[in-house]
Amino acid sequence: NVRVRFAPSPTGPLHIGGVRTALFNYLFAKKHGGDFVLRIEDTDQNRYVEGAEDYIIEALNWCNIPFDEGPNKNEKFGPYRQSERKHLYKQYADQLIAEGKAYYAFDTPEALDAERKNHEAEGKTFIYNWHNREKGRLVNSLVLTTEETQAKIDAGENYVIRFKSPQDETLHLKDSIRGDISIDTNTLDDKVLFKSDGMPTYHLANIVDDHLMEISHVIRGEEWLPSLALHQLLYNAFGWDAPEFAHLPLILKPTGKGKLSKRDGDKLGFPVFPLAWTDPKTSEVSRGYKEDGYFPEAVVNFLAFLGWNPGTEQELFSLENLISEFDLARVNKAGARFDPDKTKWFNHQYMQQQLDLDLAKSFKTQRPELADIDVNYIALVVGLIKERATFVNEFWALSHFFFSAPSSYDEKAAKKALKEDTAALMQKVIEIVTATKEFTVQNLQTKLKGWITDNNIGFGKVMMPLRLALVGALQGPDVFEIMFLIGKNETVKRIDALIK
Ligand code: GLU
Repeated sequence: NVRVRFAPSPTGPLHIGGVRTALFNYLFAKKHGGDFVLRIEDTDQNRYVEGAEDYIIEALNWCNIPFDEGPNKNEKFGPYRQSERKHLYKQYADQLIAEGKAYYAFDTPEALDAERKNHEAEGKTFIYNWHNREKGRLVNSLVLTTEETQAKIDAGENYVIRFKSPQDETLHLKDSIRGDISIDTNTLDDKVLFKSDGMPTYHLANIVDDHLMEISHVIRGEEWLPSLALHQLLYNAFGWDAPEFAHLPLILKPTGKGKLSKRDGDKLGFPVFPLAWTDPKTSEVSRGYKEDGYFPEAVVNFLAFLGWNPGTEQELFSLENLISEFDLARVNKAGARFDPDKTKWFNHQYMQQQLDLDLAKSFKTQRPELADIDVNYIALVVGLIKERATFVNEFWALSHFFFSAPSSYDEKAAKKALKEDTAALMQKVIEIVTATKEFTVQNLQTKLKGWITDNNIGFGKVMMPLRLALVGALQGPDVFEIMFLIGKNETVKRIDALIK
């Protein structure tokens, strides 16, 4: 039974790296008919940020990748917030101590700092493990008697519980993406599992919860790969089967150099967050894909390609296609370069797939000018212009002339389009348009083009001023489509206005 989890710490808004992790977990779960669990890892109270949990949940919902179990949802293995599971962890730390697999340590931060400096002075790196733990100035239950240890605890001295990592062993680790990894345990330090404030560290809570929640596969970012050895050792120490691990590649800056950071987005002018985020302390706002006008389908599609590819040329994948095609075996080890232009390309593609009526509805809500205009008319306009748009918020610039006559004419365009005989020609166009009984695109085209060719006038001489009259510039969709949509009276009025 496949059970995966997304386990963010609510320390701020979820950035796209986090959403990518959630997405890959979701795809893997759905592909295998499994469960996708959301667990909030909030044991580090110092880094807790108000609103971050709500943000995470809203972001997952916006992306259409809802969790099956999590806070306030199907709480079979709940609670799903680690702060609410506090009472669970201590017994596991105690168990390891009782079995001699972990120990109390009473070293102050100052003492540890001094040790670090002593080592540096000798050109060595300080590692808190068998190299040092039982000699020198470190104070822990491996060098104290049971009574001395208890006395310190009773006296309220600060302590931590450290994992006792093994000496002179080679650990063989497995990762579904990276293959086999060997680690020399002498390079590991005795990580803190539990703090005297009654809170477990990430490592202990994460392992205990993955075990209790029956997680079968851990899919997470590469930054957690260095923790894999400790996690495997913890599973061994408890005698539990470890889940399978898959560490996803880093997401790199658009230049390909270095890891994409949360700050890069605002700095370089593209979103790196699914939703806009207002920092509760500074009130600073970071832009989000949603507010910038991206379709969630486009965001999901481009995120899927950050580290994964289908092995074919196909680039457009609906969520359903992604579920059926997704395979951890096709996830790369190498970092994935983040390309904001590609994101726009995806958005453009998804724009073309949207129903004109749906686009029209959101366009209408964006522009007060459209308040009284029939949404079906707006949909016809959208159908003509969306091909040239990436975002709905570009629609107005591409289509305002469908809703009101140009208030001025582009200077350069006017220079190019207006000639001595323009007025006479436009007068004739007015006559033809007025005489067109059945006012259709096809009829307008046949009549006007017929007149131009029959009289050898030259298309530019007619079409340029005509377009200028209708649009105010020399851009826009097909002139006959414009005339048809704005209607006969409006067409005549605009041509008239040009030559008056
Ligand atoms: N709480 C960790 C994070 O914020 C979870 C890492 C993991 O998935 O094990 O990324």
